[in-house]
Amino acid sequence: MDENYLEQLLTVKDSGIHGKGLFSTINISEGDKILVINGEIISEDECIKRENEGNVYIFWNEDSYIDTSMTDKIKYINHNCDFNCDVVDDANNNLILIAYRDINAGEELTIDYGYDEIYEHCHCKNCAEA
Ligand SMILES: [Zn+2]
Repeated sequence: MDENYLEQLLTVKDSGIHGKGLFSTINISEGDKILVINGEIISEDECIKRENEGNVYIFWNEDSYIDTSMTDKIKYINHNCDFNCDVVDDANNNLILIAYRDINAGEELTIDYGYDEIYEHCHCKNCAEA
């Protein structure tokens, strides 16, 4: 498997959660590395500016901010409180998407966006009752 891990085996299609979503075409096992989150590396100031302009495609870790709005896969990943993927740093300080649990072929990949406002817009059972 090359640096793109499973990225070539992901597909983008209409989502039951929101707009378009990112789906797996294969079974993925918990802990599998799915893709490296690549995009435009920007500064913290630029991140704040772009977020204020409505850019919701920025990922970050302690060191870097990555604007994925020009990518064709990872930008489509939706939020779900019952997420099946997680974003972690690898040994090279890249941000990578990994499987948080076993994922079946055809399942939509989701992460916990992790910022407060998302829960107000989330339609999952927990958020709807809150
Ligand atoms: Zn929720």
